[in-house]
Amino acid sequence: TVRVRMAPSPTGSPHVGLVRTALFNWAFARHHGGTFVFRIEDTDKARSTQESYDALVDLMRWLGLDWDEGPEVGGPHAPYFQSERGELYADALTRLRGSSYTYDCYCTNEEVDARRKASGSKVMGYDGFCRDLTEEQVAAFVADGRRPVVRFRMPDGSITWTDLVRGDITFETENVPDYALSRANGDPLYTLVNPVDDALMEITHVLRGEDLLSSTPRQLALYAALTELGIAKQTPQFGHLPYVMGQGNKKLSKRDPEAHALAYRDQGFLPEGLLNYLALLGWSISGDRDIFSLEEMVGAFDIKDVNPNPARFDLKKAEAINVSQMRLLPLEEITHRVLPYLKDAGVVGDPVSDADAQLLEQAMPLIAERINKLTEAVDMLGFLFVDEADFTRDETDVEKVLTDDGRQVVQAAYDAVEPLAEWSTAAIQDALQAKLVDELGIKPRNAFGPVRVAVTGKRVSPPLFESMELLGRERSLARLRSALG
Ligand code: GLU
Repeated sequence: TVRVRMAPSPTGSPHVGLVRTALFNWAFARHHGGTFVFRIEDTDKARSTQESYDALVDLMRWLGLDWDEGPEVGGPHAPYFQSERGELYADALTRLRGSSYTYDCYCTNEEVDARRKASGSKVMGYDGFCRDLTEEQVAAFVADGRRPVVRFRMPDGSITWTDLVRGDITFETENVPDYALSRANGDPLYTLVNPVDDALMEITHVLRGEDLLSSTPRQLALYAALTELGIAKQTPQFGHLPYVMGQGNKKLSKRDPEAHALAYRDQGFLPEGLLNYLALLGWSISGDRDIFSLEEMVGAFDIKDVNPNPARFDLKKAEAINVSQMRLLPLEEITHRVLPYLKDAGVVGDPVSDADAQLLEQAMPLIAERINKLTEAVDMLGFLFVDEADFTRDETDVEKVLTDDGRQVVQAAYDAVEPLAEWSTAAIQDALQAKLVDELGIKPRNAFGPVRVAVTGKRVSPPLFESMELLGRERSLARLRSALG
Protein backbone atom coordinates (compact mmCIF):
# COMPACT_ATOMS: atom_id res chain seq x y z
CA THR A 1 0.00 0.00 0.00
CA VAL A 2 1.08 3.53 -0.76
CA ARG A 3 1.94 5.91 2.08
CA VAL A 4 3.18 9.38 1.17
CA ARG A 5 3.65 12.52 3.18
CA MET A 6 4.09 16.18 3.00
CA ALA A 7 6.38 17.46 5.66
CA PRO A 8 6.56 21.23 5.75
CA SER A 9 8.57 23.25 8.22
CA PRO A 10 6.26 25.85 9.79
CA THR A 11 8.53 28.80 9.10
CA GLY A 12 7.26 31.81 7.21
CA SER A 13 4.34 31.96 4.83
CA PRO A 14 3.61 28.80 2.81
CA HIS A 15 5.04 28.83 -0.71
CA VAL A 16 3.36 27.72 -3.94
CA GLY A 17 6.16 25.18 -4.38
CA LEU A 18 4.98 23.52 -1.20
CA VAL A 19 1.43 23.40 -2.57
CA ARG A 20 2.68 21.76 -5.75
CA THR A 21 4.50 19.14 -3.64
CA ALA A 22 1.41 18.60 -1.48
CA LEU A 23 -0.79 18.27 -4.56
CA PHE A 24 1.42 15.69 -6.26
CA ASN A 25 1.67 13.63 -3.07
CA TRP A 26 -2.06 13.88 -2.49
CA ALA A 27 -2.92 12.95 -6.10
CA PHE A 28 -0.47 10.04 -5.94
CA ALA A 29 -2.03 8.78 -2.70
CA ARG A 30 -5.59 9.16 -3.98
CA HIS A 31 -4.77 7.55 -7.32
CA HIS A 32 -3.39 4.49 -5.57
CA GLY A 33 -5.98 4.40 -2.79
CA GLY A 34 -3.12 5.08 -0.39
CA THR A 35 -2.59 7.25 2.66
CA PHE A 36 -1.60 10.90 2.65
CA VAL A 37 0.25 11.88 5.80
CA PHE A 38 0.72 15.48 6.94
CA ARG A 39 3.68 15.94 9.27
CA ILE A 40 4.99 19.13 10.81
CA GLU A 41 8.77 19.42 10.75
CA ASP A 42 9.20 21.85 13.62
CA THR A 43 12.57 20.60 14.85
CA ASP A 44 14.00 24.08 14.45
CA LYS A 45 12.20 25.61 17.41
CA ALA A 46 13.70 29.04 16.91
CA ARG A 47 12.26 29.40 13.40
CA SER A 48 8.95 27.52 13.76
CA THR A 49 5.90 29.63 14.59
CA GLN A 50 2.29 29.00 15.49
CA GLU A 51 1.27 31.56 12.87
CA SER A 52 3.00 29.63 10.13
CA TYR A 53 1.46 26.36 11.31
CA ASP A 54 -2.03 27.93 11.31
CA ALA A 55 -1.39 29.21 7.79
CA LEU A 56 -0.44 25.70 6.63
CA VAL A 57 -3.61 24.16 8.03
CA ASP A 58 -5.79 26.98 6.63
CA LEU A 59 -4.13 26.57 3.27
CA MET A 60 -4.65 22.81 3.10
CA ARG A 61 -8.28 23.17 4.20
CA TRP A 62 -8.92 25.89 1.65
CA LEU A 63 -7.37 23.80 -1.10
CA GLY A 64 -9.37 20.76 -0.06
CA LEU A 65 -6.25 18.59 0.11
CA ASP A 66 -7.45 16.37 2.93
CA TRP A 67 -4.98 14.35 4.92
CA ASP A 68 -5.58 10.91 6.38
CA GLU A 69 -3.08 11.23 9.22
CA GLY A 70 -1.63 14.30 10.81
CA PRO A 71 -2.43 17.34 12.92
CA GLU A 72 -6.03 17.64 14.06
CA VAL A 73 -7.03 14.27 12.61
CA GLY A 74 -4.48 12.12 14.47
CA GLY A 75 -3.55 8.63 13.31
CA PRO A 76 -1.65 5.50 14.26
CA HIS A 77 1.75 7.21 14.12
CA ALA A 78 0.89 10.22 16.27
CA PRO A 79 2.20 12.65 17.27
CA TYR A 80 2.72 14.29 13.88
CA PHE A 81 4.80 17.17 15.22
CA GLN A 82 8.54 16.56 15.35
CA SER A 83 8.72 18.71 18.47
CA GLU A 84 6.67 16.04 20.28
CA ARG A 85 8.63 13.01 19.07
CA GLY A 86 11.82 13.49 21.08
CA GLU A 87 11.73 10.07 22.76
CA LEU A 88 11.48 8.29 19.42
CA TYR A 89 14.53 10.14 18.12
CA ALA A 90 16.47 9.53 21.33
CA ASP A 91 15.75 5.83 21.05
CA ALA A 92 16.82 5.67 17.40
CA LEU A 93 19.95 7.64 18.24
CA THR A 94 20.87 5.28 21.08
CA ARG A 95 20.56 2.28 18.82
CA LEU A 96 22.57 3.91 16.04
CA ARG A 97 25.24 4.97 18.51
CA GLY A 98 25.57 1.41 19.75
CA SER A 99 26.19 0.18 16.19
CA SER A 100 29.11 0.42 13.79
CA TYR A 101 27.08 2.74 11.54
CA THR A 102 28.11 5.71 13.61
CA TYR A 103 30.99 6.95 15.69
CA ASP A 104 31.46 9.58 18.34
CA CYS A 105 33.16 12.64 16.97
CA TYR A 106 34.95 15.16 19.21
CA CYS A 107 36.18 17.60 16.58
CA THR A 108 35.28 21.26 16.62
CA ASN A 109 34.31 23.00 13.39
CA GLU A 110 37.45 25.10 13.64
CA GLU A 111 39.61 22.01 13.74
CA VAL A 112 37.86 20.52 10.71
CA ASP A 113 38.26 23.78 8.78
CA ALA A 114 41.92 24.09 9.70
CA ARG A 115 42.63 20.55 8.52
CA ARG A 116 40.81 21.17 5.23
CA LYS A 117 42.88 24.28 4.59
CA ALA A 118 46.10 22.48 5.43
CA SER A 119 45.34 19.53 3.13
CA GLY A 120 43.91 21.64 0.29
CA SER A 121 40.91 19.25 0.04
CA LYS A 122 37.97 20.42 -2.06
CA VAL A 123 35.41 18.21 -0.34
CA MET A 124 33.35 20.29 2.07
CA GLY A 125 32.21 18.78 5.33
CA TYR A 126 33.77 16.33 7.67
CA ASP A 127 37.07 14.56 6.90
CA GLY A 128 36.58 11.38 8.93
CA PHE A 129 39.20 12.27 11.56
CA CYS A 130 37.36 10.52 14.44
CA ARG A 131 36.33 7.43 12.47
CA ASP A 132 38.84 5.13 14.13
CA LEU A 133 39.92 6.72 17.39
CA THR A 134 41.88 4.61 19.83
CA GLU A 135 40.69 4.27 23.43
CA GLU A 136 43.52 6.56 24.51
CA GLN A 137 42.47 9.27 22.06
CA VAL A 138 38.88 9.08 23.28
CA ALA A 139 40.03 9.24 26.89
CA ALA A 140 42.10 12.32 26.11
CA PHE A 141 39.12 14.11 24.50
CA VAL A 142 36.89 13.22 27.43
CA ALA A 143 39.54 14.37 29.92
CA ASP A 144 39.62 17.60 27.93
CA GLY A 145 35.91 18.04 28.79
CA ARG A 146 34.72 17.51 25.21
CA ARG A 147 31.35 16.00 24.46
CA PRO A 148 30.87 14.10 21.21
CA VAL A 149 28.36 14.40 18.42
CA VAL A 150 27.11 11.15 16.92
CA ARG A 151 28.34 11.02 13.35
CA PHE A 152 27.07 8.75 10.60
CA ARG A 153 29.73 6.69 8.83
CA MET A 154 29.04 6.88 5.08
CA PRO A 155 29.83 3.57 3.41
CA ASP A 156 32.58 3.35 0.79
CA GLY A 157 31.75 3.20 -2.88
CA SER A 158 28.68 4.67 -4.51
CA ILE A 159 24.98 5.04 -3.85
CA THR A 160 22.50 4.60 -6.68
CA TRP A 161 18.76 4.91 -6.77
CA THR A 162 16.14 4.99 -9.48
CA ASP A 163 14.47 8.31 -9.00
CA LEU A 164 10.74 8.15 -9.81
CA VAL A 165 11.03 11.38 -11.79
CA ARG A 166 14.64 11.43 -12.96
CA GLY A 167 15.67 7.81 -13.46
CA ASP A 168 18.99 6.40 -12.22
CA ILE A 169 21.11 8.69 -10.08
CA THR A 170 24.50 7.78 -8.65
CA PHE A 171 26.59 9.57 -6.04
CA GLU A 172 30.15 8.58 -5.18
CA THR A 173 30.29 8.52 -1.40
CA GLU A 174 33.78 10.05 -1.38
CA ASN A 175 31.84 13.24 -2.18
CA VAL A 176 29.31 12.65 0.59
CA PRO A 177 31.09 13.23 3.92
CA ASP A 178 30.18 11.59 7.20
CA TYR A 179 27.54 13.76 8.85
CA ALA A 180 26.29 14.51 12.34
CA LEU A 181 23.02 13.02 13.63
CA SER A 182 23.03 14.87 16.94
CA ARG A 183 24.46 17.88 18.67
CA ALA A 184 27.04 17.57 21.42
CA ASN A 185 24.24 18.19 23.95
CA GLY A 186 22.45 15.10 22.65
CA ASP A 187 19.73 16.89 20.69
CA PRO A 188 18.87 15.03 17.50
CA LEU A 189 19.46 16.89 14.26
CA TYR A 190 17.16 17.20 11.27
CA THR A 191 19.42 14.78 9.38
CA LEU A 192 18.27 12.10 11.79
CA VAL A 193 14.67 13.00 12.49
CA ASN A 194 13.41 13.33 8.92
CA PRO A 195 14.43 9.79 7.86
CA VAL A 196 13.45 8.33 11.25
CA ASP A 197 9.97 9.80 10.84
CA ASP A 198 9.67 8.45 7.31
CA ALA A 199 10.77 5.05 8.63
CA LEU A 200 8.43 4.97 11.63
CA MET A 201 5.52 6.32 9.60
CA GLU A 202 6.21 3.61 7.01
CA ILE A 203 6.40 6.06 4.16
CA THR A 204 6.67 4.18 0.85
CA HIS A 205 7.33 7.06 -1.56
CA VAL A 206 9.08 10.34 -0.85
CA LEU A 207 8.00 12.89 -3.45
CA ARG A 208 9.66 16.22 -2.75
CA GLY A 209 11.40 19.16 -4.32
CA GLU A 210 14.63 18.90 -6.25
CA ASP A 211 16.33 21.12 -3.67
CA LEU A 212 16.41 18.06 -1.39
CA LEU A 213 18.00 15.72 -3.93
CA SER A 214 21.52 16.17 -2.59
CA SER A 215 20.45 14.89 0.84
CA THR A 216 19.05 11.68 -0.62
CA PRO A 217 22.33 9.67 -0.73
CA ARG A 218 22.88 10.40 2.97
CA GLN A 219 19.33 9.40 3.78
CA LEU A 220 19.54 6.19 1.75
CA ALA A 221 22.68 5.19 3.62
CA LEU A 222 20.97 5.95 6.92
CA TYR A 223 17.94 3.97 5.80
CA ALA A 224 20.13 0.92 5.25
CA ALA A 225 21.29 1.26 8.85
CA LEU A 226 17.78 1.84 10.18
CA THR A 227 16.57 -1.25 8.32
CA GLU A 228 19.43 -3.34 9.66
CA LEU A 229 18.63 -2.15 13.19
CA GLY A 230 14.95 -3.01 12.76
CA ILE A 231 13.77 0.61 12.96
CA ALA A 232 12.77 0.86 9.28
CA LYS A 233 10.73 -1.80 7.53
CA GLN A 234 11.65 -0.70 4.04
CA THR A 235 13.44 2.03 2.16
CA PRO A 236 11.02 4.39 0.42
CA GLN A 237 11.29 5.17 -3.25
CA PHE A 238 12.31 8.74 -3.97
CA GLY A 239 11.07 11.13 -6.63
CA HIS A 240 12.31 14.70 -6.92
CA LEU A 241 9.91 17.22 -8.42
CA PRO A 242 11.26 19.93 -10.72
CA TYR A 243 12.23 23.38 -9.53
CA VAL A 244 9.65 26.14 -9.85
CA MET A 245 11.29 29.11 -11.55
CA GLY A 246 10.22 32.72 -11.24
CA GLN A 247 11.26 35.90 -13.02
CA GLY A 248 14.63 36.00 -14.74
CA ASN A 249 14.97 32.22 -14.59
CA LYS A 250 15.71 32.25 -10.88
CA LYS A 251 14.10 29.85 -8.44
CA LEU A 252 10.82 31.28 -7.19
CA SER A 253 11.69 32.47 -3.70
CA LYS A 254 9.84 33.74 -0.67
CA ARG A 255 10.77 37.23 -1.78
CA ASP A 256 8.60 36.91 -4.89
CA PRO A 257 5.07 38.08 -4.11
CA GLU A 258 3.56 35.42 -6.35
CA ALA A 259 5.18 32.73 -4.21
CA HIS A 260 2.79 33.18 -1.28
CA ALA A 261 0.09 30.56 -1.55
CA LEU A 262 -2.52 32.12 0.75
CA ALA A 263 -2.36 35.38 -1.19
CA TYR A 264 -4.26 33.56 -3.95
CA ARG A 265 -7.12 32.87 -1.58
CA ASP A 266 -7.10 36.47 -0.39
CA GLN A 267 -7.16 37.72 -3.99
CA GLY A 268 -10.19 35.56 -4.74
CA PHE A 269 -8.69 32.69 -6.71
CA LEU A 270 -10.62 29.45 -6.64
CA PRO A 271 -8.67 26.62 -5.03
CA GLU A 272 -9.50 24.66 -8.18
CA GLY A 273 -7.84 27.38 -10.23
CA LEU A 274 -4.63 27.45 -8.21
CA LEU A 275 -4.37 23.66 -8.02
CA ASN A 276 -5.09 23.22 -11.73
CA TYR A 277 -2.35 25.70 -12.54
CA LEU A 278 0.18 24.22 -10.10
CA ALA A 279 -0.49 20.73 -11.49
CA LEU A 280 0.87 22.00 -14.80
CA LEU A 281 4.22 22.79 -13.18
CA GLY A 282 5.78 19.50 -14.17
CA TRP A 283 2.74 17.47 -15.16
CA SER A 284 0.04 17.45 -17.80
CA ILE A 285 -3.06 15.35 -18.16
CA SER A 286 -2.63 14.77 -21.88
CA GLY A 287 -1.19 16.67 -24.79
CA ASP A 288 -2.37 20.25 -24.85
CA ARG A 289 -5.23 19.96 -22.36
CA ASP A 290 -4.84 22.62 -19.69
CA ILE A 291 -8.12 22.56 -17.82
CA PHE A 292 -9.08 19.59 -15.68
CA SER A 293 -10.63 18.81 -12.34
CA LEU A 294 -8.91 17.33 -9.31
CA GLU A 295 -10.84 14.09 -9.85
CA GLU A 296 -9.50 13.90 -13.37
CA MET A 297 -6.01 14.54 -12.09
CA VAL A 298 -6.36 11.79 -9.50
CA GLY A 299 -7.58 9.41 -12.17
CA ALA A 300 -4.70 10.13 -14.52
CA PHE A 301 -1.81 10.89 -12.18
CA ASP A 302 1.33 8.83 -12.72
CA ILE A 303 4.55 10.03 -11.12
CA LYS A 304 6.47 8.68 -14.13
CA ASP A 305 4.82 11.37 -16.29
CA VAL A 306 6.35 14.18 -14.24
CA ASN A 307 8.80 16.18 -16.31
CA PRO A 308 12.14 16.68 -14.52
CA ASN A 309 12.91 19.98 -16.25
CA PRO A 310 12.44 23.20 -14.29
CA ALA A 311 8.94 24.61 -14.60
CA ARG A 312 8.32 28.32 -15.03
CA PHE A 313 5.73 30.01 -12.84
CA ASP A 314 3.57 32.30 -14.98
CA LEU A 315 1.05 34.43 -13.09
CA LYS A 316 -0.84 35.38 -16.27
CA LYS A 317 -1.37 31.75 -17.09
CA ALA A 318 -2.43 31.02 -13.50
CA GLU A 319 -5.04 33.77 -13.76
CA ALA A 320 -6.30 32.48 -17.11
CA ILE A 321 -6.65 28.95 -15.72
CA ASN A 322 -8.50 30.34 -12.74
CA VAL A 323 -10.97 32.14 -15.01
CA SER A 324 -11.59 28.92 -16.94
CA GLN A 325 -12.30 27.12 -13.67
CA MET A 326 -14.66 29.93 -12.61
CA ARG A 327 -16.68 29.51 -15.80
CA LEU A 328 -17.14 25.83 -15.05
CA LEU A 329 -18.82 26.44 -11.69
CA PRO A 330 -22.61 26.46 -11.54
CA LEU A 331 -24.20 29.74 -10.50
CA GLU A 332 -25.24 28.58 -7.02
CA GLU A 333 -21.70 27.40 -6.38
CA ILE A 334 -20.18 30.75 -7.37
CA THR A 335 -22.70 32.45 -5.09
CA HIS A 336 -21.67 30.15 -2.27
CA ARG A 337 -17.98 30.87 -2.90
CA VAL A 338 -18.46 34.61 -3.10
CA LEU A 339 -20.30 34.85 0.20
CA PRO A 340 -17.27 34.69 2.56
CA TYR A 341 -15.60 37.51 0.64
CA LEU A 342 -18.74 39.64 0.88
CA LYS A 343 -18.89 38.95 4.61
CA ASP A 344 -15.22 39.78 5.11
CA ALA A 345 -15.63 43.06 3.28
CA GLY A 346 -18.74 43.88 5.30
CA VAL A 347 -20.91 44.02 2.17
CA VAL A 348 -23.33 41.61 3.84
CA GLY A 349 -23.63 40.72 7.50
CA ASP A 350 -22.40 37.54 9.13
CA PRO A 351 -24.70 35.65 9.31
CA VAL A 352 -26.22 37.04 6.18
CA SER A 353 -29.83 38.27 6.55
CA ASP A 354 -32.58 36.63 4.53
CA ALA A 355 -33.15 39.83 2.61
CA ASP A 356 -29.48 40.11 1.65
CA ALA A 357 -29.32 36.42 0.73
CA GLN A 358 -32.27 36.91 -1.57
CA LEU A 359 -30.80 40.03 -3.13
CA LEU A 360 -27.52 38.19 -3.66
CA GLU A 361 -29.30 35.36 -5.40
CA GLN A 362 -30.92 37.86 -7.75
CA ALA A 363 -27.72 39.79 -8.35
CA MET A 364 -25.31 36.93 -8.96
CA PRO A 365 -26.62 36.06 -12.43
CA LEU A 366 -25.68 39.60 -13.46
CA ILE A 367 -22.02 39.20 -12.56
CA ALA A 368 -21.19 35.49 -12.44
CA GLU A 369 -19.87 35.43 -15.99
CA ARG A 370 -18.04 38.74 -15.63
CA ILE A 371 -15.88 38.23 -12.59
CA ASN A 372 -12.43 36.68 -12.92
CA LYS A 373 -11.80 36.43 -9.21
CA LEU A 374 -14.23 36.03 -6.33
CA THR A 375 -13.13 39.32 -4.76
CA GLU A 376 -14.43 41.20 -7.80
CA ALA A 377 -17.95 40.50 -6.55
CA VAL A 378 -17.22 42.79 -3.59
CA ASP A 379 -16.46 45.67 -5.93
CA MET A 380 -19.33 44.95 -8.25
CA LEU A 381 -22.10 44.32 -5.74
CA GLY A 382 -21.24 46.71 -2.95
CA PHE A 383 -23.59 49.42 -4.31
CA LEU A 384 -26.61 47.12 -3.95
CA PHE A 385 -26.12 46.23 -0.32
CA VAL A 386 -24.83 49.48 1.11
CA ASP A 387 -27.11 51.60 3.32
CA GLU A 388 -28.20 54.70 1.45
CA ALA A 389 -26.50 56.88 4.04
CA ASP A 390 -23.16 55.16 3.39
CA PHE A 391 -23.37 55.09 -0.40
CA THR A 392 -20.43 56.82 -2.07
CA ARG A 393 -19.23 57.15 -5.63
CA ASP A 394 -15.78 56.64 -7.04
CA GLU A 395 -14.26 60.11 -7.14
CA THR A 396 -12.37 59.67 -10.38
CA ASP A 397 -15.43 58.29 -12.10
CA VAL A 398 -17.55 61.17 -10.82
CA GLU A 399 -15.03 63.68 -12.15
CA LYS A 400 -14.93 62.03 -15.54
CA VAL A 401 -18.59 61.37 -16.06
CA LEU A 402 -20.75 63.53 -13.81
CA THR A 403 -19.78 66.74 -15.56
CA ASP A 404 -22.32 69.49 -16.26
CA ASP A 405 -23.40 67.59 -19.37
CA GLY A 406 -23.47 64.38 -17.39
CA ARG A 407 -25.71 65.89 -14.75
CA GLN A 408 -28.12 67.06 -17.42
CA VAL A 409 -28.31 63.49 -18.65
CA VAL A 410 -29.01 62.29 -15.11
CA GLN A 411 -31.78 64.87 -14.73
CA ALA A 412 -33.35 63.66 -17.99
CA ALA A 413 -33.03 60.05 -16.84
CA TYR A 414 -34.74 60.94 -13.58
CA ASP A 415 -37.61 62.58 -15.45
CA ALA A 416 -37.91 59.53 -17.71
CA VAL A 417 -38.12 56.83 -15.03
CA GLU A 418 -39.79 58.70 -12.18
CA PRO A 419 -43.31 58.32 -13.65
CA LEU A 420 -42.91 54.61 -14.50
CA ALA A 421 -45.87 52.56 -13.31
CA GLU A 422 -43.92 49.34 -13.38
CA TRP A 423 -40.31 49.19 -12.08
CA SER A 424 -38.80 46.47 -14.24
CA THR A 425 -35.65 46.06 -16.27
CA ALA A 426 -37.58 46.27 -19.53
CA ALA A 427 -39.60 49.33 -18.51
CA ILE A 428 -36.50 51.15 -17.26
CA GLN A 429 -34.58 50.30 -20.40
CA ASP A 430 -37.40 51.42 -22.71
CA ALA A 431 -37.90 54.68 -20.86
CA LEU A 432 -34.20 55.60 -20.81
CA GLN A 433 -33.68 54.58 -24.41
CA ALA A 434 -36.68 56.61 -25.59
CA LYS A 435 -35.79 59.70 -23.64
CA LEU A 436 -32.00 59.86 -23.78
CA VAL A 437 -31.14 58.24 -27.08
CA ASP A 438 -34.20 58.61 -29.29
CA GLU A 439 -35.50 61.97 -28.08
CA LEU A 440 -32.36 63.84 -26.99
CA GLY A 441 -30.09 62.11 -29.50
CA ILE A 442 -27.37 61.30 -26.97
CA LYS A 443 -24.97 58.49 -27.91
CA PRO A 444 -25.72 55.41 -25.72
CA ARG A 445 -22.26 55.61 -24.13
CA ASN A 446 -22.72 59.20 -23.08
CA ALA A 447 -26.29 58.52 -22.04
CA PHE A 448 -25.83 55.53 -19.79
CA GLY A 449 -22.37 56.32 -18.37
CA PRO A 450 -23.58 59.17 -16.14
CA VAL A 451 -26.67 57.20 -15.08
CA ARG A 452 -24.47 54.27 -14.19
CA VAL A 453 -22.12 56.34 -12.04
CA ALA A 454 -25.10 58.06 -10.42
CA VAL A 455 -26.77 54.80 -9.48
CA THR A 456 -23.88 52.37 -8.86
CA GLY A 457 -21.11 54.82 -8.02
CA LYS A 458 -18.79 53.37 -10.68
CA ARG A 459 -18.22 53.32 -14.40
CA VAL A 460 -17.84 49.53 -14.26
CA SER A 461 -20.85 47.76 -12.80
CA PRO A 462 -23.29 44.98 -13.47
CA PRO A 463 -25.74 45.70 -16.31
CA LEU A 464 -27.41 49.03 -15.61
CA PHE A 465 -31.13 48.38 -16.09
CA GLU A 466 -31.06 45.14 -14.14
CA SER A 467 -29.12 46.90 -11.41
CA MET A 468 -31.76 49.61 -11.19
CA GLU A 469 -34.52 47.07 -10.99
CA LEU A 470 -32.76 45.26 -8.15
CA LEU A 471 -31.97 48.49 -6.36
CA GLY A 472 -35.65 49.39 -6.49
CA ARG A 473 -37.49 52.52 -7.43
CA GLU A 474 -36.91 54.57 -4.33
CA ARG A 475 -33.23 53.97 -3.96
CA SER A 476 -32.61 54.44 -7.69
CA LEU A 477 -34.46 57.74 -7.74
CA ALA A 478 -32.71 58.90 -4.59
CA ARG A 479 -29.34 58.25 -6.17
CA LEU A 480 -30.23 59.96 -9.41
CA ARG A 481 -31.30 62.95 -7.37
CA SER A 482 -28.25 63.00 -5.16
CA ALA A 483 -25.99 62.86 -8.23
CA LEU A 484 -27.40 66.18 -9.33
CA GLY A 485 -25.47 67.78 -6.48
N1 GLU B 1 10.69 19.92 5.89
C1 GLU B 1 11.29 19.88 4.59
C2 GLU B 1 11.01 21.18 3.86
O1 GLU B 1 10.08 21.88 4.21
C3 GLU B 1 10.77 18.72 3.76
C4 GLU B 1 11.71 17.58 3.82
C5 GLU B 1 11.31 16.39 2.97
O2 GLU B 1 10.32 16.47 2.22
O3 GLU B 1 11.98 15.37 3.09
O4 GLU B 1 11.73 21.52 2.95
